[in-house]
Amino acid sequence: MNSKLTIALSKGRIYKDTVPLLSAMGIQCLDDPETSRKLILDTNHAHIKIVIIRAADVPTYVQYGAADLGVAGKDVLLEHGGQDLYEPLDLRIARCRLMVAGPKDRPAGILDQAPGKRLRIATKYVNCTRDYFARRGIQVEIIKLYGSMELAPLVQLSDLIVDLVDTGNTLKANGLEPIAHMADISSRLVVNKAAMKMKHGLVQDFLQRMEQAVGDKP
Ligand code: AMP
Repeated sequence: MNSKLTIALSKGRIYKDTVPLLSAMGIQCLDDPETSRKLILDTNHAHIKIVIIRAADVPTYVQYGAADLGVAGKDVLLEHGGQDLYEPLDLRIARCRLMVAGPKDRPAGILDQAPGKRLRIATKYVNCTRDYFARRGIQVEIIKLYGSMELAPLVQLSDLIVDLVDTGNTLKANGLEPIAHMADISSRLVVNKAAMKMKHGLVQDFLQRMEQAVGDKP
């Protein structure tokens, strides 16, 4: 039996919010990814390593078993599709909403425009956005962006955007407002399906400890 565990995390919000949970489980990272250039970090447990990757890559590493476990935002999982992953635990961190938003002064009833005229939507969530509008029978043209979605309607690149909203301050600062709620988002623990079987004891022990740490969080 392989007795090592590799956990995939991304820098920034997810790392910052996951570290206290790992700490409560007795797992300390021996390097700080914000200052170190190392991509594989040792922990105080010789059999547990942490790999630092882009948030959108976490499901892929876990899907292919390059990491046994990972922490990924529900937005990233919805977009990825979640193939070959278990999603056993909502960590209740990095919470926000995936929303359709648009200019405050947009035409009234913009989502009900005449069939044939396609709304332009700027987003990095191409799959979620396509599904959401298709289910509502609304024709859209999706423009894939990698960031600063809020700019797109201001420079007439798109009519609307689909993006994560937390306080709503970024929308407001750019003259935009939320129009429709697509999904509640938080970070989830994901587990590779083969690791769940082949490393059952280790993974179950990790899961139980993490569940406890999430439950104990104020
Ligand atoms: P806010 O101004 O608080 O509504 O935050 C919105 C900005 O922060 C947008 O650019 C979002 O993409 C980003 N954001 C908000 N919440 C999250 C989250 N949980 N994970 C990643 N990005 C987020």
